[in-house]
Amino acid sequence: MEIKKNDELIVDIVDISSEGEGIGKHQGFILFVNNTVVGDKVKVKVMKTKKSYGYARMMELLEASPFRVEARCPIAEKCGGCTLQHLVYRKQLEFKQNKVKNCLLRIGGFTENIPMEPIVGMEEPFYYRNKAQFPVGKDKDGGVVIGFYAGRTHSIIDTSHCYIQAEINDIIIEQIRRFLEVYKISIYEEETHTGLVRHILTRVGFVTGELMVCLVINGTKLPHQEEFIEFLTRIPHMTSISLNINQEKTNVILGNKVETIWGQPHITDYIGEIKYQISPLSFYQVNPIQTKKLYEIALNYADLHGEEVVWDLYCGIGTISLFLAEKAKQVYGVEIIPEAIEDARRNAEINGIQNAEFFVGAAEDILPRKYKEENIYADVIVVDPPRKGCDESLLDTIVQMSPKKVVYVSCDPATLARDLKYLCDRGYQIKKVQAVDQFGHSVHTETVVKLCRNNA
Ligand code: SAH
Repeated sequence: MEIKKNDELIVDIVDISSEGEGIGKHQGFILFVNNTVVGDKVKVKVMKTKKSYGYARMMELLEASPFRVEARCPIAEKCGGCTLQHLVYRKQLEFKQNKVKNCLLRIGGFTENIPMEPIVGMEEPFYYRNKAQFPVGKDKDGGVVIGFYAGRTHSIIDTSHCYIQAEINDIIIEQIRRFLEVYKISIYEEETHTGLVRHILTRVGFVTGELMVCLVINGTKLPHQEEFIEFLTRIPHMTSISLNINQEKTNVILGNKVETIWGQPHITDYIGEIKYQISPLSFYQVNPIQTKKLYEIALNYADLHGEEVVWDLYCGIGTISLFLAEKAKQVYGVEIIPEAIEDARRNAEINGIQNAEFFVGAAEDILPRKYKEENIYADVIVVDPPRKGCDESLLDTIVQMSPKKVVYVSCDPATLARDLKYLCDRGYQIKKVQAVDQFGHSVHTETVVKLCRNNA
């Protein structure tokens, strides 16, 4: 029987896709069904078909899986953030562990026993994020909406409480909403590229309690700026208020220019003993509690004894570099965003760390150049690239420099597996793999891998 659009079928959900959809099978035909979990029996309506698979919408939950839980958040099904909230947390962890393993098997082509440690989960997978980016828009009647994008769309769901963000955001958003309404500040419209206020970026120091608010605007000035500051500084611990100028027609959230309009240009927070100053444009891990565990694993994998030269590539504001510096002879960090490197240098200074040096530029430019021109050396190389992984020319330089150990921190198991294959085809061996759940209720996971040179 051929399956067509609008067919109504009964399917058993047998697996979860890497994007978090339930995978149902009907006579060998695969259907992806949102908001279902392994073990559900559901009635679905087929929305779209390809040759061997299709997409369907759940019409009725006939039998609920034992792994199904009620999502705490009333908009979890619509919002693009928490695609797994209806799956019991222990199963989310199992899903992530398998996702990493499957990538290593299928993309990395690793067949022997992969030395995988059990994934490190969160004790409390709610209210864990220290950074939020809320899009601002208008509803049909012109009222202000602030919230999150519905999955795969740009329509904003108005939200007054998010279950994974720091709860103080509720108060910040309430103040900004009132400010925008009272002073009738114009709101950005994506389709026409008109209007002023686009996004609200907030950061919270989990240890210090310091708060940052950065308003992203399609313009250079905010009307009633003084009142804006007054609304926000009523909130205790407000530390930094800034404007980010983004006048491009783009869905990239932040522009390059930041103007501090009140307080400090950054907030301060700690991971372990190390103090970090974080500015609006710099990358900083979003889950501070899990980040500490992640960095401890990376430190453990680097296995430093005080004599080593370490290169930390994609170093951001120097978080991993400074974490490692205490145990190494010398650490060099490389990062593409100049402001992040300014933060990294300042962070080294405020912690009294003298054996960390930082370079601005693409890792794939800086490392090969330094290797060719200065014949630099490394005992350990740490990489922590964005989702697209490492450039092949960088991996090639790592192979030539031939450090005893490589520690790969990754936020994308697919590109991780691809890069590990490259290194393992050229003299490295995987010693340990451990996933760390930094992003509860989403499909994403962080992974740390220890590689050693074969003849080391
Ligand atoms: N290790 C840091 C940051 C990791 S995120 C931490 O744990 O906090 C990845 C970082 O890589 C970002 O700061 C990003 O700006 C930077 N980046 C992206 N492409 C890069 C490139 N080609 N070369 C160097 N850094 C890059």
